[in-house]
Amino acid sequence: MYLMCKVLFMLLISQVYSSPRKKSYSEIKSCNVGNLAEEIASYDSVVRDIMNYVVSGPFKRKTYDELEKFVDKFGARISGSQVLEDSIDYMIKLTQDEDLTDIVTEELEVPHWVREQEKITMLKPRSKNIAVLGLGKSISTPPEGVTADVVVFSNFEEFDNASIEDVKGKIVLFNPIFTTYHETSPYRTHGAARAAEKGAVASLIRSITPFSINSPHAGVQHYSENVTKIPTAAITLEDADLIKRFYNRGEKVVLNIKMHSSFETKTSRNTLIDLKGTKNPEKLVIVSGHIDSWDVGQGAMDDGGGLFVSWAAPIILKRLNLIPKRTVRAIFWTAEELGFVGVNAYAEKHKNESHNINFIMESDEGTFAPRGLSVAGTQEARCIIAEILKLFESINASTLIETDRPLSDIAFIVQNGIPGASLHNANEKYHWFHHTEGDTMNVENPEELDLCTAFWTAVAYIIADISVDIPR
Ligand SMILES: [Zn+2]
Repeated sequence: MYLMCKVLFMLLISQVYSSPRKKSYSEIKSCNVGNLAEEIASYDSVVRDIMNYVVSGPFKRKTYDELEKFVDKFGARISGSQVLEDSIDYMIKLTQDEDLTDIVTEELEVPHWVREQEKITMLKPRSKNIAVLGLGKSISTPPEGVTADVVVFSNFEEFDNASIEDVKGKIVLFNPIFTTYHETSPYRTHGAARAAEKGAVASLIRSITPFSINSPHAGVQHYSENVTKIPTAAITLEDADLIKRFYNRGEKVVLNIKMHSSFETKTSRNTLIDLKGTKNPEKLVIVSGHIDSWDVGQGAMDDGGGLFVSWAAPIILKRLNLIPKRTVRAIFWTAEELGFVGVNAYAEKHKNESHNINFIMESDEGTFAPRGLSVAGTQEARCIIAEILKLFESINASTLIETDRPLSDIAFIVQNGIPGASLHNANEKYHWFHHTEGDTMNVENPEELDLCTAFWTAVAYIIADISVDIPR
């Protein structure tokens, strides 16, 4: 039974976390989109108009300034909180002030997990406070905390080779070195469930980041059905390595973990803003980002940037009187961080109209200098997008990365065969700040944000306006 559960679990993990399949670029290079190439090239002047308007015209720095006002006013916006709902109301008002009034909100139930006291103290081999962020939906410890020896594993393979006696009654520390988010985040999402299978009393993870100034990184985790729920938290790279060094020297490491939190269900909203198409208003080109954030920092990068470039797209098109044939819909997803709750509710509610989604875009991996798009879809669809991206050579944003599963919310829509893309940007430092107190306005850059806004808006316009639907 245990083995069967494990096999099933690994299958599930490999499906959910398999890295994007990279194909050779030769296929894309040999694209022949026929007459469409000429039609797409004719959008060159529109791209220039949008660029000028955003980069050096009336919209210059507007995305940054509005993002700054927003995150300074609300700060962190965790799922289910009143501050998140207030921030949704604020975005609706901000949009109405731009004379865009086709706004709908759709209510859904979301988890509301609230972090209270958290403290980890190293008792042996010496006394030290350990910086901590409990992982989302973690249960609390008893008031006196959990005190136990630590056992350290660098990866799941090492853990699998350990006996139940090695783990039972201990605190498991998973200490994997960051490679990619895809490869490393399963230690956060499923470490507690795995550790509990062998009787651990709590689990810790090395924060999912390649860099740290003693900063713990928050994030969601998922308990398994039929496995005891144990308290689980992230600690910093520095403390994880310190514990590992003691452990490797054969010194007993004893920690006391005190964590308290509350968990309930609340109502939140997805927000849909339409710039109705002139010819096929039922057909949608969606631009999106999530409005909720973790409860640390300001959520300026994750995902304030993605939220505001998607907010700006229909507004800029309206201001420039560029109304495409199909509808451009901006969506502000709610409760992304606690498990893609908003997008799942949207997919369920709109499942009978999913044939109308012509293309769906999301920015949730930073809004640093744009480089192009990570595109999911058929070869034909990718060829058309590749042709559109040629129009952005002057800003060095013509790269098409082939993926079968773009990260974040839209993965849940793209998996049903709907073509889509996420913003590919110069986000090499994204995970330095991701889910930390360091995710503030200081990470954002006004010029790069302007380029993202212009790129996002122009791509959405062209896809919404060209003579053909993006093929499936
Ligand atoms: Zn995000």
